[in-house]
Amino acid sequence: MDSAGTRPADRATGAQSGKETATGARPALRIQLANPRGFCAGVERAIQIVERALEKFGRPVYVRHEIVHNRFVVEGLEARGAIFVEDLDDVPDGVPVVFSAHGVPKSVPAEAERRKLFYVDATCPLVSKVHREAERHFKNGKQIILVGHAGHPEVVGTIGQLPDGAVLLVQSVEDVATVAVKDPSNIAYVTQTTLSVDDTAEIVEALCRRFPEIDGPKKEDICYATTNRQEAVKAIAERCDAMLVVGAPNSSNSLRLVEVAQRNGCDKARLVQRAAEIDWAWLGAAECLGITAGASAPETLVNEVIEAVRERYDVTIEEVSGADENVIFKLPRVLANA
Ligand code: SF4
Repeated sequence: MDSAGTRPADRATGAQSGKETATGARPALRIQLANPRGFCAGVERAIQIVERALEKFGRPVYVRHEIVHNRFVVEGLEARGAIFVEDLDDVPDGVPVVFSAHGVPKSVPAEAERRKLFYVDATCPLVSKVHREAERHFKNGKQIILVGHAGHPEVVGTIGQLPDGAVLLVQSVEDVATVAVKDPSNIAYVTQTTLSVDDTAEIVEALCRRFPEIDGPKKEDICYATTNRQEAVKAIAERCDAMLVVGAPNSSNSLRLVEVAQRNGCDKARLVQRAAEIDWAWLGAAECLGITAGASAPETLVNEVIEAVRERYDVTIEEVSGADENVIFKLPRVLANA
């Protein structure tokens, strides 16, 4: 904001759309690079699993669902011999198959075993942890409320850990008011790992108000990577005139980053998959641009976006410091020494 309370991007200047000004100079633009951003440990591991499987078993390796929600990553693996399908029925007998990082319902490995398919499960260990939590509550006789987004593969996978009807989905505070549980004194909740931290806190608060005896995780199930990337966006949103989130439209954590920017002082926030998608007219005369990336977006794409901005603006970059991440997940034993 300037002293008049208007955003530079809203003012009419000769520097709109990053075009050269009448004097031939490129307009100045400060980039605030959110930190941390991009790949998380679960995504790194899932991609490595497909790469190692290709090395060990040769091509093709089938992958059920996009290994992570990013076309660039998927196309790179396709070029190396991975074949992506949505259904196990599309996997021929006798070839290895990898399950994506989002997790799968129990029926999927069961069907793979029935068909004697060799499979490797790339479910993120933090998603598997939620599966185990849900199972534990179920064993203790509790009905489970899952806070998450209908249709997301992680939600489908978590619901599919337990028999039909054992898990009820709640997507909003409004849903909490109407969810019909069997016994309010005998329920527990778990959450999707890639939700908005703030929205989820409100939903959990509403659950605890309506069901004071509800059991739940000591600390919510939203993963460290989702939390850290949202915090990093909050740290820069106020001072940015616009924010680009590198990520895919089906990436839950990337979509949440756009919302977090908009709710924390940068209403001009957008998702872009590649530099080619940047709408330069939209960016206009912004003086400070925030850039971040969802957990499934590689740094190469962040660099591509920065280079495209650099072609049109006289750029200075500030890498903002944020949470240190040193999480590494082990590979499944069958691939560890491939
Ligand atoms: S976003 Fe979180 S839960 Fe999802 S793969 Fe990454 S670390 Fe795992």
